[in-house]
Amino acid sequence: MREALSVDRLVAGVRHRDRAVVARALTLVESSRPEHRELARELLRELAPDAGYARRVGISGVPGVGKSTFTDALGTRLVDRGHRVGVLAVDPSSSRTGGSILGDRTRMAALAARDDAYIRPAPSGGHLGGVARATRDSIVVLEAAGFDVVVVETVGVGQSEVAVSGMVDTFLFLALARSGDQLQGIKRGILELADVIAVNKADGEHAGEARVTARELAVAMRLVLGPDEGRPQVLTCSALTGDGLDEVWQAVVDHADGLRRRGVLEERRRRQQVDWLRAVVQDELRLMLSGSGHAGAVARAAEQDVASGAVTVPEAMDRVLIALAADLTARAPGRAPESARGPAPESAGGHAPG
Ligand code: GDP
Repeated sequence: MREALSVDRLVAGVRHRDRAVVARALTLVESSRPEHRELARELLRELAPDAGYARRVGISGVPGVGKSTFTDALGTRLVDRGHRVGVLAVDPSSSRTGGSILGDRTRMAALAARDDAYIRPAPSGGHLGGVARATRDSIVVLEAAGFDVVVVETVGVGQSEVAVSGMVDTFLFLALARSGDQLQGIKRGILELADVIAVNKADGEHAGEARVTARELAVAMRLVLGPDEGRPQVLTCSALTGDGLDEVWQAVVDHADGLRRRGVLEERRRRQQVDWLRAVVQDELRLMLSGSGHAGAVARAAEQDVASGAVTVPEAMDRVLIALAADLTARAPGRAPESARGPAPESAGGHAPG
């Protein structure tokens, strides 16, 4: 990072929607360096009251399904209608061009050229937990910078979809017609995560097949999930021609508005925060137990003693817990390592604009 901006200047710049400052704020919240974590925590606390007001939409699907093309086309339409669109990519596999900015900008060239859009590539490297943390914090920064639609895009590799569904209001799953492994590729778990399903590439000679696939998926969903009102809508679209994109967006809006009307949206966001808290607490404990500190050493010794039969499991457990407690007590307040950060202090109940 270049010469560090103070948190005050970052906060002011983000609120003034200064792109250069937004970029630096995002770099800060993505960083795992302890001194950056401390500043990031302060930044997020300051920005929290400004966050929570966007539509948060997750987009997933196998590589090649058309996620970038779709996000580019949809995002551009939304910007044309006066929305401000932020796009965050989550790619723990880093299969993409090393998370290079050039890669993601090129993938969404039309949207990247718009002043009212901001495309942030996946932070490169790092485990899913770290990437998920960075993405959650980035949502707060983008919302504080006035982006009223935040798209979190992820590759269809299971774990990252679960992580993304834990931070968005509506999870849109893009599918393809004619993939023989249709119902295998779209596994039950994914069906349960999806709030809207769109069969993409419904154009040219494939338009008919796409409609058939959509009908089959709708039937499959009914069988798997039952006929309740929470069942996702299944539509077709073409990211290339733009056909159906408005209908897909309407389905996303209807889904989130339906949740809000029934008072479930705030509940969903609150639950996401609680799940997130549990995840970071568990992560932190795991890190402490595998780390080079006192608790880590005690844990390893306890494992050996249990293996050799020198102590019983309950005795070993007590030793480990006492060591953890000692390490935690020794931590000066405000000097916790990054992984001990709490969930992003975003407001649980925001109002998304229409
Ligand atoms: P991603 O890997 O899911 O991000 O997929 P891309 O957006 O990179 O698209 C993969 C390929 O499919 C590209 O060659 C796109 O031009 C093409 N593609 C994307 N959407 C459509 C569509 O709606 N119709 C057609 N015919 N091709 C599409």
